[in-house]
Amino acid sequence: MSDVEFKNAGKVYDDGTVALESLNLTINEGEFLVLLGPSGCGKSTALRLLAGLEDITSGSISIGGSIVNDLPPGARGLGMVFQSYALYPHMSVRDNLSFGLRRAKGSARIDKTEISARVDEAAEMLDLHRALEKKPKELSGGQQQRVAIGRALVRRPKVLLMDEPLSNLDAKLRNRMRFELRRLHEMHGTTTLYVTHDQVEAMTLADRIAIISDGKLQQHAKPLDAYHHPANTFVASFLGTPAMNLIEGAAADGKFIAGDLEFGLPEHLADRRGPGVYGVRPEYVRILDEGGVRCRVGGIERLGGESICHLDAGGHWIRALWHRSGGDASPVVNEDHEQLSVDLAVPEAVLFEK
Ligand code: ADP
Repeated sequence: MSDVEFKNAGKVYDDGTVALESLNLTINEGEFLVLLGPSGCGKSTALRLLAGLEDITSGSISIGGSIVNDLPPGARGLGMVFQSYALYPHMSVRDNLSFGLRRAKGSARIDKTEISARVDEAAEMLDLHRALEKKPKELSGGQQQRVAIGRALVRRPKVLLMDEPLSNLDAKLRNRMRFELRRLHEMHGTTTLYVTHDQVEAMTLADRIAIISDGKLQQHAKPLDAYHHPANTFVASFLGTPAMNLIEGAAADGKFIAGDLEFGLPEHLADRRGPGVYGVRPEYVRILDEGGVRCRVGGIERLGGESICHLDAGGHWIRALWHRSGGDASPVVNEDHEQLSVDLAVPEAVLFEK
């Protein structure tokens, strides 16, 4: 059993910085959990607490049902992959992969045949079998990162920890490695905690995402559930590109009013009232032939397959994302300052209480 549980886990650094506030979070066996949040939100701290690289200052962390608060890092049965690969430059890929296994002593000792079998298996899984005799400097960045992952996997860790492992790669390689990491996880099924500030990585890799801001857990959900049903405005604006349109105002009598902007609420929100923030994702803002909200077109970003249209809706800037479907991705809008009408009262809209 390799469930991980953070129970009211907190970390206050010696200088008084509260990096993590009472985190309650479970990672199920075999699950790929992504801790997502902006820089400085406390996600690496959470990973380092689990790894035993920092002492927890309140609460507890357990692995497989046993509290590990006082266990040294080496005794926690974890594999770690960081942003820097830290491979031994003078050793071949084979020796880098087997290094940790060869050093195991006492009851943890592993015989040579087993070491060799595990290295071959990892090399096969990571497509490194033709590079086993090469030195790290003869490898691409992506291959080096795969060696770092392999080195963690050969130890058969109970939990695999990854802290921004793709940050050092260029954009193209990062996209490919992201895909490979997910495929790899499906092959080995190791319980994984993955830390990133990149919402695309989180959306594509995670079984579940834990979104953190200011040391506090904001939402813990499946990626698409968090995307479609964000728990609060932070999650709503953090997940998705372009970000969700958020309009501050108030609901009353089946309408939403925000200064000069006024429109009828969609059916599922029609009986809401009081101050709130109305949220609608850019891809759900539809052009209407008549009715709806009259907007001034402030500008269009044409990306080829899709266009982002910036609209002034009664003094509120909103974005609409239109996908190419057979023709131009912005068929109606051809020049700036044109007027058009859009529907904001869509079934996918959300309303956050204030
Ligand atoms: P993230 O990984 O989300 O970027 P961190 O967990 O590294 O964030 O940091 C969370 C907060 O704790 C930040 O405000 C950071 O400056 C602070 N912090 C991190 N490490 C230390 C440390 N060793 N001493 C004091 N403050 C720290």
